[in-house]
Amino acid sequence: MTSPVREIEIRCPDCNSYYQDWFRPSVNLNLDDFDDDYLEEASTSTCPRCGFRVDHAMLVVNRSGVWCLDDGMEGEDEDADFDDD
Ligand SMILES: [Zn+2]
Repeated sequence: MTSPVREIEIRCPDCNSYYQDWFRPSVNLNLDDFDDDYLEEASTSTCPRCGFRVDHAMLVVNRSGVWCLDDGMEGEDEDADFDDD
C-alpha cells in the first residue's frame, strides 16, 4: 500500500538553510493513480530560499532527523593509483 505523506526537515546543500517538506516513502501505482508531476513532487524538494532542488534519493537522514546530502566526512579516494608498466 502507499505510505502516507511524511513531513521531513531538509538542509539545503546549496545555501545550508533548513526547511520543511514532505515526501512519500513508497507509492503503489497499482492502487493509486498518480501522475508524473505528482511523483516528481513527492520525490524531490525545492529550497524556498535559493530554489535548489534535491532528489530525496540523494539525501541521508542524520542523527537529528534532518535530511541532507551525505557530506562524506571520510572523503572518498577516487584517485586510483595504478602502476602501469
Ligand atoms: Zn537553498
